[in-house]
Amino acid sequence: MSAFRGGIALAPNKQGLSKPITVVPLPSELVFNTNKPLVNIGDTVLAGQNIAANTIASTSGHISDIQTHRSHSTITLIPDGESKYTPAITNAENPIAAIEAAGLTGLGGAGFSTLKKLQSQQCAELVTLVINAAECEPMIACDEALMLEHAPQVISGINTLMQITCCLQCIIAIEDTKIAAINTIKQALVDSANPKLQLRVIPTRYPGGAETVLLRQLSGAQLTKSQRPADHDMLCFNVATAYSVHHAVANQPIFGRVVTIAGNATNQPCNVSALFGTPLTHLLQHTNNLPGSSTANPPTGKMTIKIGGPLSGRESNASVIDLANTAVDPNCNAIIIERTNQTADEQACIRCGNCADVCPESLLPQQLFRYQSNVDKLNEYQLLNCIECRCCDLVCPSAIQLTDYFKQSKQILQKQSQLQVDAQLAEARYAARETRLVRKAREREQELLEKKRKVAIAPTPAAMDIAAALARAKAGLIKPSDKTS
Ligand code: SF4
Ligand code: SF4
Repeated sequence: MSAFRGGIALAPNKQGLSKPITVVPLPSELVFNTNKPLVNIGDTVLAGQNIAANTIASTSGHISDIQTHRSHSTITLIPDGESKYTPAITNAENPIAAIEAAGLTGLGGAGFSTLKKLQSQQCAELVTLVINAAECEPMIACDEALMLEHAPQVISGINTLMQITCCLQCIIAIEDTKIAAINTIKQALVDSANPKLQLRVIPTRYPGGAETVLLRQLSGAQLTKSQRPADHDMLCFNVATAYSVHHAVANQPIFGRVVTIAGNATNQPCNVSALFGTPLTHLLQHTNNLPGSSTANPPTGKMTIKIGGPLSGRESNASVIDLANTAVDPNCNAIIIERTNQTADEQACIRCGNCADVCPESLLPQQLFRYQSNVDKLNEYQLLNCIECRCCDLVCPSAIQLTDYFKQSKQILQKQSQLQVDAQLAEARYAARETRLVRKAREREQELLEKKRKVAIAPTPAAMDIAAALARAKAGLIKPSDKTS
């Protein structure tokens, strides 16, 4: 197996793997940042119940508050501590029904509905089911912890996915530095005795676990932005999703995920299992990692909290208020808390080409940076193929945070494409209006002609008298004496 083009060999730095996964106690309230609430304040809900579009209650309780913000709504659920399931969960009779009842969302970061993905490929007999266990980003170790502790359940979930999709083979991809996880998965594969499942050990190189990069490594498939793995006869699931499938099919969905807490400003790096909706303050307090409480590191430098990983994560303000309103969701695989010293100031690009050398998507980041507001050039240099891995940022000697510029440029493209869609819709509406006006004018003209035709052939009263007289004369009913002249 050869490494892919570009990328960077980064130290895995998987802190916290020496300890087992711990379960975060039920918080006093769960918070769901979502859209289109389907419940009202005061409603009683069950675990597995839809409380908003694409959001399910992760335990039973009652809705205590719903706040509507500009971009989303926040639903607050007070747990009753009983974890009562919806009847659909306990009555699910087949794997698809169980996955539907559990409302499973993929745990790999893209946030796709597992049900929709499976329904679109049910019995599709694609060649390969790929299980992404690469977890290539430094510090994130939630998938590795799952494989270390629950390999048989992971393989059980994979067997269910194979059964539903009827794929001909399954490749479980793991990076070569995850020696212990490789061993537990190997043993579980032996126990499972399914010859269609195989383990593929890939080089440890970031971003080898990104879906497009992983599939390219495994099969040579070059996915374009608009393509799905199924376009190349493959289907891809994250290893944590397979674990959740196992529990859903056992009619015991877990409605949560394993989250890594790591970074140089944490007291106790660890991997914890938390319900969806668990506020980050609760998570960090429980693990003794709330910012400001660190005793291991002096409070110097700028504090940052990233949700989702040191490179690909989104940054959050470290204030307690923000952490209280941010909660564990299916995409929250890690919380990285770090203190960083003064970063170097951005300098002008010196055209060294380092960024192009490491780009796994074979892009030219220096050109994308140069033309950051030029829509035509951004399209020409295929900005939309950028997977925002930040490899280019890491090697730039001018300290240019290229990926931040690319995110802004993508918004420009998005706006432009929305303008184009709006313009096309406006054009279509104008054309439809024109057609409608022409049609109505024709209809009015026809009506007028018809009226005229009717008037032309309708007999006047005098004409009718003459016609009647002629008819009587013809019939011999008019005598000479009847003649008026
Ligand atoms: S241009 Fe995009 S894909 Fe390429 S290295 Fe930079 S962030 Fe990664
Ligand atoms: S690495 Fe930085 S300085 Fe070098 S070409 Fe790319 S953007 Fe320019």
